Amino acid sequence: MKRLVLVVACALLDADNRVLIAQRPPGKTLAGLWEFPGGKVEPGESPEATLIRELKEELGVDTEAACLAPLTFASHAYEDFHLLMPLYVCRRWRGLPQGLEGQALKWVRARALRDYPMPPADEPLIAPLIDLL
Ligand code: C5P
Repeated sequence: MKRLVLVVACALLDADNRVLIAQRPPGKTLAGLWEFPGGKVEPGESPEATLIRELKEELGVDTEAACLAPLTFASHAYEDFHLLMPLYVCRRWRGLPQGLEGQALKWVRARALRDYPMPPADEPLIAPLIDLL
């Protein structure tokens, strides 16, 4: 059976309903593809705690659990593992997002997300986001 990997992703929204996406830097798997910020859930961690930690580490952004709303989730079979990836929406956060791990960042309209190549697991997350926004 394939290993199960749990990654949490976040659609960080600005006041204009634009969504922040990050480009996976060279050296990482799927380098060059655009993704919703987030990361792997550590043992014993809640998905909300993972996001709060990852948004701080990757972007320098602060938020809290009450500001994270679950929207949908992706379930994708990669060749060597199965990825489960809930997507949260966050409208209330503090700080100026920066690519602290070398990743390029872009604010885009939900409808423009399809113009940015994403990992296959992320693609099904776009439609629910367009419906919401
Ligand atoms: O980001 P990280 O490399 O830790 O994620 C583990 C794996 O999960 C990636 O190699 C990728 O296959 C998958 N992933 C994804 N979409 C994301 C984040 C990770 O498909 N937004």
